[in-house]
Amino acid sequence: MDRQQEYVLRAVEERDIRFIRLWFTDVVGTLKSVAVAPAELESAFEEGLGFDGSAIEGFSRITEADMLVRPDPATFQVLPWRGEPPVTARMFADIHTPDGSPSPGDPRHVLRRALDKAADMGFTFYTHPEIEFFLFETPLVPGEAPRPIDQAGYFDHVADSRGQDFRRDAIQILESMGISVEFSHHEGGPGQNEIDLRYADALSTADNIMTFRTVIKELAAQGDFFASFMPKPLSRHPGSGMHTHLSLFEGDRNAFHEAGAPYQLSKVARQFIAGLLHHGSEITAITNQWVNSYKRLWGGGEAPAHICWGHNNSSAMIRVPLYKPGKENSSRIEVRTMDPACNPYLAFAVLLHAGLAGVENGYELPEEAEDDVWRLTDSERHALGIVPLPSSLDQAIDAMERSDLVAEALGEHVFDVFLRNKRQEWADYRAQVTPFELERLLPTL
Ligand code: GLU
Ligand code: MG
Ligand code: MG
Repeated sequence: MDRQQEYVLRAVEERDIRFIRLWFTDVVGTLKSVAVAPAELESAFEEGLGFDGSAIEGFSRITEADMLVRPDPATFQVLPWRGEPPVTARMFADIHTPDGSPSPGDPRHVLRRALDKAADMGFTFYTHPEIEFFLFETPLVPGEAPRPIDQAGYFDHVADSRGQDFRRDAIQILESMGISVEFSHHEGGPGQNEIDLRYADALSTADNIMTFRTVIKELAAQGDFFASFMPKPLSRHPGSGMHTHLSLFEGDRNAFHEAGAPYQLSKVARQFIAGLLHHGSEITAITNQWVNSYKRLWGGGEAPAHICWGHNNSSAMIRVPLYKPGKENSSRIEVRTMDPACNPYLAFAVLLHAGLAGVENGYELPEEAEDDVWRLTDSERHALGIVPLPSSLDQAIDAMERSDLVAEALGEHVFDVFLRNKRQEWADYRAQVTPFELERLLPTL
């Protein structure tokens, strides 16, 4: 029993915590939860808690179904929305095989492996996400467009609005769980909101995103509306992205910063961006994993559709934010492709692998895209060497399937399970006869 585990056992006793939920994710980032009684916690720390892995996407084949959930004591938190006695707490858990080694199907383990690779190169990886989501009226009517809770737009201040109260309550819950929030505002679409988390190491950020999605969903349900992280729920309004700011640190020093260099970007930062662009198509199936993700990427509304970078250019896949003098540690890059319905562990792992490949192989950074990439013609983009992102899940899977880098980042097991899962999603989607076809084609054909 180590000191953190002892601390958790003491806290559970002193605070009379009755339920401890152990959280982990499947391969597409669905949160899984199993509650243990306080008396079982010690053995969960020491031996792990058994579960049937074959029932969860990505964990095992039927013949080797037994898996073990091992709680990570560093992530212990009381769930404030379950604050009334009996008190409930949670920990994120790592998944192990019966012989005690990390399960190759555990997305948290995939990210840990990527972080180890960065550590071998001398780097720590920091991330901070800007998470967008919609609030809709309930009940949702299957097959009908959802109804946003307001008609406000970007940065609108709406007095006495349910959205504003919702953000305030959500932020209080997040802060009380140790998740710092930097900004929050109404986003461009009706009923659309954004909450930005403070930067943290990538494993904590991925855990925080999972917690965030749960808090937002639970709180919305309590307030009688429905919160959605679907990338493009309304066809005529912007979708929800999860722009994420990335930086590498060497000890206390921001390895992306170089005083006096163009945009204060170090060689490491330029090579990292080059890596993200070079492998941009291959990693998109992971950062944008749903059929619906591509409706956002190709639907305007400030979502990127092309593989390029730009200084303060919001139409590019990668934006270099304006540098504020004296803030060396805040030098960073913003990846704008990712959406809030991704599996954050896998997404950070592939982004890190792609960026580090740029550093390892000394990739050259292409010219920056100075214009609004959306306004250029195809031939202008072609002349500038700007290629499009995959335009559908199908194309994204094809690009991923050919990628040695993504296979290495995910490990063969997750790579195969993910591709199989997404091929099936595409096949199910393609088999639909859609309202578009019935409305547009049936009357004339
Ligand atoms: N909602 C936009 C997107 O899908 C981003 C808007 C913004 O610039 O924050 O990426
Ligand atoms: Mg935004
Ligand atoms: Mg942004």
